[in-house]
Amino acid sequence: MLTGKKILITGVTGQVARPVAETLVGHNEVWGLGRFSDPSITDRLTAAGIRIWRWDMSRDGLERLPNDFTHVLHAAVERGNGLDFEAAVAVNSIAAGRLMTHCRGAEAFLYISTGALYARQRLDHLHTETDPLGTATPWLPTYPVGKLATEGVVRAFAATLGLPTTIARLNAAYGPYGHGGIPIMFFRRILAGEPIEVPRRGQELCSPIHTDDIARQVPLLWDVAKVSSTVLNWGGDDAVGVQDLMSYISGLTGVPAEFVANRVTRGMVAFDNTRRSRAIGRCEVPWRDGVRRALDAHFSGAVRASAST
Ligand code: NDP
Repeated sequence: MLTGKKILITGVTGQVARPVAETLVGHNEVWGLGRFSDPSITDRLTAAGIRIWRWDMSRDGLERLPNDFTHVLHAAVERGNGLDFEAAVAVNSIAAGRLMTHCRGAEAFLYISTGALYARQRLDHLHTETDPLGTATPWLPTYPVGKLATEGVVRAFAATLGLPTTIARLNAAYGPYGHGGIPIMFFRRILAGEPIEVPRRGQELCSPIHTDDIARQVPLLWDVAKVSSTVLNWGGDDAVGVQDLMSYISGLTGVPAEFVANRVTRGMVAFDNTRRSRAIGRCEVPWRDGVRRALDAHFSGAVRASAST
């Protein structure tokens, strides 16, 4: 267990970083950075003992922030509006450079990237870290472009500042907070009567990972940080089909899922987890159990008592 450290976490109001901050704050000094657009979350973070620091990545504003952090988790992202590539690249990459420079004395820096960087292959392909990158994401084209640009910045600053760094390409994170991740976002669409876009043949796979596993694994990812940057896929142990995932949720809730064959889908990918497993071990939350718990957290009473796992 990580104890007695001074930890900085960006994107702390978000789905992924908030449970990490809440887990680590019991035994460490944790600072959370963000714009804090939702004041109710700010109050809950403060009540949990997390120190709040307002920082908009599109500005500087780190000058008066302490710089003696031992560990940094950079999870904030400006996904962009799908059109303004210049803004997505500039905001995310300059912010990463400023943050790393400010925290150059840290023991480890962890940047959360995305599996959306990988070029599309066969639907059942398990992507490795050395697979071709593509950044073709029709649902939000600016997103992977900003992430890939930022990966480059993070590698450069790690090397030039001598700051041990891990770049973790996250798969479909899901859990009790924020938007809840793909299973919850798709279920909201189903409740709104919208069909989920799927390929004409077969199904896209993903590697869903519960935020409990994420919170447990963040210190392990700091442990494997290197000045040359450790790059690894960060997903759950199981490759799960999108239709299988949503049909499971239908079974739990009794709400039928409708699928529609479409050229444009979410473009999910599944991971080959060999490098991650060797570096930090396996996940602990089985996806069916995790999805059931996430549903309970977001839609109290939605899971039928009679539903089997
Ligand atoms: P959320 O959308 O839940 O949260 C985004 C966070 O970024 C919020 O805390 C938001 O804070 C902060 N943020 C956005 N714009 C700015 C800005 N201009 N300045 C400062 N802070 C900003 O994201 P997730 O938790 O889902 O994702 C966390 C990380 O994981 C991201 O880097 C994302 O790319 C990556 N990832 C997530 C996946 C997932 O399945 N969730 C999959 C793959 C990668 P506020 O609004 O309060 O300012």
